[in-house]
Amino acid sequence: MKAYQVVESGKPLQLNEFETPEPQGSEVLLKTVACGVCHSDVHIHEGAFDLGGGNKLPLPLEMPYTLGHEIFGEVIKLGPDASDINIGDKRVVYPWIGCNQCDVCSSGDEHLCAGGPVLGVQKGGGFGDHVLVPNSKYLMDAGATPDHLAGSYACSGLTAYTALKKSGIKDSSDSLVIVGAGGLGMMGIQIAKAAFNTQPIVVDVDDAKLDLALQNGASHTINSAKEGAFEEIHGMTGGVGAVIDFVGSDLSTGFAASLLRKGGKYIIVGLYGGELSHPLPMMVLMERNIQGSYVGSLANMKELMSLVKEGKIEPIPVEKRHASEASQTLEDLKAGKIMGRAALMHD
Ligand SMILES: [Zn+2]
Ligand SMILES: [Zn+2]
Repeated sequence: MKAYQVVESGKPLQLNEFETPEPQGSEVLLKTVACGVCHSDVHIHEGAFDLGGGNKLPLPLEMPYTLGHEIFGEVIKLGPDASDINIGDKRVVYPWIGCNQCDVCSSGDEHLCAGGPVLGVQKGGGFGDHVLVPNSKYLMDAGATPDHLAGSYACSGLTAYTALKKSGIKDSSDSLVIVGAGGLGMMGIQIAKAAFNTQPIVVDVDDAKLDLALQNGASHTINSAKEGAFEEIHGMTGGVGAVIDFVGSDLSTGFAASLLRKGGKYIIVGLYGGELSHPLPMMVLMERNIQGSYVGSLANMKELMSLVKEGKIEPIPVEKRHASEASQTLEDLKAGKIMGRAALMHD
């Protein structure tokens, strides 16, 4: 098999060839069809998250490793104990795999396990042309979803779905603001419409991305870099019930938290980096809820994929690129040049 691998943090990926793994036990081997490229891939590739104030959270990963956690592939080989799956099935992979031995995993929150192996981080991901999955329980049917879009439900879709659940928004009687009109923001709009019966107001600093958000079903779009943005949202909502921040930067958090009405919820999802500085009395007086949300559980993924399979969620824009453009795609994503999502297509 071959894979575009990280050989040094932040440096161009390298095409390496090595032996294709042989599935053992319950393992399932997939030939990768497509893999979405996520902002987390950019951070993992850089080898650290920005904690603000000049501090970094390093990611101790053994080189070389293969990125890509939005995997869509075709089952080509089964371990002797693999069940509930057939050769030729095309599936989305749930990559947020835990140790399956600790209390966190037993409670169903594998994605919060300190162990792993997460596919595309500790174990080979979809920047490789084959992916070994430990068990068929991590494979999901995406119905008639196009190949280049399907994998995106495993990260951007799942992340948006889980954050929306945490927001407590159930319908359009309460206001929802989405910060960030990238791939995650687009998923947020579609899933908010399909599963939460609401059309969000979308905020970004890039007018082109806001136009795309409007075409994709945002109720209003507002450029937060322009004067009067805060007043405009306040005028429309009288204070927002929930803000989901798909950016997660110094600037976005300051803006987003200030939009909340009393008792409103602020869900931070983006990993852009920086620090949250917030006036403490306002936490109390406004009874603000500030919560992080990280990807999502296997149970949430199943809920989401049943909506996807039924065709309830409208597609987001996805740009197809050949797998050999993996390095350039990371660069373009970092530079904010990707509209919606980009997916790497394997031969
Ligand atoms: Zn991701
Ligand atoms: Zn665990």
